[in-house]
Amino acid sequence: MRIDLATIALFGALQALLLAPLLLAATRAYTGVARTSLRIWGTVLLLQAVGWVLMGLRGHASDWLSIVLANGVLMVSYAESARALRLLLGAPQRRLLLAAIGVAGWLGIAWFGVVEPDYRVRVYIASVALGAYLLLLAWPLRHALRRGGSSAQRVMLLVLLGALLGWCGRLGELLSHPSAAAGLLAYSPANAAQMIYSAVEPVLASVGFLLMYNEAAQAELHRLARTDPLTGTLNRLALDEEADRLFQQAGSRGTPLAVLMIDVDHFKRINDDFGHAAGDRVLAVLAASIAATVRPPVVLGRMGGEEFLALLPDTGLAETMALAERMRAAVAKLRPVPGDGMPGITVSAGIAVRGPDDADVHGLIRRADRALYDAKRAGRNRVVTASG
Ligand code: GH3
Ligand code: MG
Ligand code: MG
Repeated sequence: MRIDLATIALFGALQALLLAPLLLAATRAYTGVARTSLRIWGTVLLLQAVGWVLMGLRGHASDWLSIVLANGVLMVSYAESARALRLLLGAPQRRLLLAAIGVAGWLGIAWFGVVEPDYRVRVYIASVALGAYLLLLAWPLRHALRRGGSSAQRVMLLVLLGALLGWCGRLGELLSHPSAAAGLLAYSPANAAQMIYSAVEPVLASVGFLLMYNEAAQAELHRLARTDPLTGTLNRLALDEEADRLFQQAGSRGTPLAVLMIDVDHFKRINDDFGHAAGDRVLAVLAASIAATVRPPVVLGRMGGEEFLALLPDTGLAETMALAERMRAAVAKLRPVPGDGMPGITVSAGIAVRGPDDADVHGLIRRADRALYDAKRAGRNRVVTASG
């Protein structure tokens, strides 16, 4: 069976052409960087459609169109696809490098296409340029290969690997059978495999791209659902999850777990005297100050109101007391809203350490809460440890 490669090139172009408006129309539902990257991707599909139609005209139109313009359009499409993907991933854009590869590749292809026609050299140049683009596309995805890495990014890597193999196959065929040099659309097993893959690649890569976008959006939603918007620390939902997880972990590993409950002293007065908005600013400054005194794996979150909870895995009582004291002293030095007469703020804190009698994390947190209450009764601006 002989496959007509020009027909396949046109078929690939048609697919890209149909897919592009669908993606571009869908971008209205997206926002920010995702929208920009998806728009670039839609444009890439249009460019690829144009490029492959021009390629398919080889022999029917002038070489200026089917070689020089076609390859120019395809180079721009590859550079833009790398830009879209890197934008979505938050990787550096490398626009200059992307442009330089395209211009150098295109000039080489144009020279050996129409000035001093040499099909083999042209394929070498195109392979190097496309190989460079594929590497720039694939490089930011390498983290996906780690254990637990993004499955959407792995799909994309696989698609890119397919493209790379296609070009390598063609290059290998040309190196081993110099007589096979008859043009991209002339039938040869490597040419056919590469052309068929190129025809389905727009669809495969677009699916990969949308999966990646979806994964990034899900991760962002998950992060937002677990973050307290005012202070940027974990919210109550996330704190409860983390508390349960760390309690189980401490039990199974036999390691200590301490909890530290923190509450602002006389916070109501700040709201009453300076307004709720000033109170909010104080809470944000305070949270930043507390966050600066703890390091991962310590987990910090807002229980509600002006109450914060820190979970300290692998930390014993003495270490927790020292940390709480550092935190208390740092807060006492804060001037949350300089220049408007607001007095400094202080916090009280209660500590409890996981003991053999703690059946679940709630009992542990209750004990820290009681210690906090004791700190308030003892005059505030102090740290108290739960007994027992
Ligand atoms: P104590 O020293 O006994 O803790 O005194 P307190 O005034 O801090 O007591 P309490 O816990 O009863 O008051 C907390 C106040 O925090 C009550 C509420 O109006 C205020 N508050 C709760 N959430 C917010 C918030 O998100 N923003 C602001 N500005 N105020 C809040
Ligand atoms: Mg309070
Ligand atoms: Mg309170």
